Amino acid sequence: MHQDGDTRINIAIDGPAGAGKSTVARKVAEQLGYVYIDTGAMYRAVTLRARNAGITADQPAKLAELVRSLKIELEPGDQGQSVFVDGVDVTSQIRSREVTMQVSHIAANETVRDVLGQLQRSLAARKGVVMDGRDIGSHVLPDAELKVFLTASVKERAMRRHKEIADSQKITLEQLETEIAQRDKLDEQREISPLICASDAVVLDSTGMAIDEVIQAIVKLSRTKLAEAK
Ligand code: C5P
Repeated sequence: MHQDGDTRINIAIDGPAGAGKSTVARKVAEQLGYVYIDTGAMYRAVTLRARNAGITADQPAKLAELVRSLKIELEPGDQGQSVFVDGVDVTSQIRSREVTMQVSHIAANETVRDVLGQLQRSLAARKGVVMDGRDIGSHVLPDAELKVFLTASVKERAMRRHKEIADSQKITLEQLETEIAQRDKLDEQREISPLICASDAVVLDSTGMAIDEVIQAIVKLSRTKLAEAK
């Protein structure tokens, strides 16, 4: 059941790595009774499978063949969202450091973006989704009623990630800051649908903000857009 009668909108939340998009998007979806879709998880799933198959970003034909053959499914789960590839739960594996380091290279592939973009659009076709990523407002769902560009300083994003990371992936704050900055650069500079703030997006800089404040700000914006959509 969703709130606000039968009118539903789509909400796009884009921004750089570690800005808190997934936590915020998931909670906003919960409050509105919407479906949360983590598009980064899809790129991570393809990266994991490419790694397992020994396929790298400089083998575009093989990568294209692989992504076309995969069945990627998202389901609500304990960690926010469970991710399945060909029926296998890969939720934990896609968060490994190896996948994180490689994902932006794999995500630059045109066919990977086409295939995942189509999947994302089909999931949003009936409205009522909160989708987070890098190119959702600018490319995947240009008609989304609400677009938010969520950002924070690199330092703050690295600090947040550092707190989240399990002991098994020991990494210093400085290393994390460098890696996040590198990933942002790759995502911003790729040719196809780069990380960009859509011209009609609301920019939210969450540096120094509590996560709940960010969630409430977006829920408030959603209610305004919902009222306008009626
Ligand atoms: O959101 P997350 O950090 O898990 O995303 C992992 C990577 O997937 C990003 O760094 C980016 O390279 C890629 N991505 C993308 N487009 C999206 C979502 C994620 O290119 N819409």
